[in-house]
Amino acid sequence: MRTMVEPSEIECRQIAELIGDYLDGSLPKATRELIDWHIESCGPCVAFVNTYRGTVDAAKKLREAPIPPELKQRLLSVLRARRASS
Ligand SMILES: [Zn+2]
Repeated sequence: MRTMVEPSEIECRQIAELIGDYLDGSLPKATRELIDWHIESCGPCVAFVNTYRGTVDAAKKLREAPIPPELKQRLLSVLRARRASS
């Protein structure tokens, strides 16, 4: 029989609930360590964290990227033309 420590103090669905706070660092250290520990031994949660992190990064990039002025002008003129023709 193998002795194996189960990360049973925290469950996958708790990871899902806490992941936002975990990634922005607002969780207490003890809780974060529990999550770290769980994730290390839980494949699905590793995948979940990576996906979540990727989504957040992508969203941040989108928000930071300014719309090029010429594209904005083009969009505006399309909108204006549409309004004029309808
Ligand atoms: Zn898990």
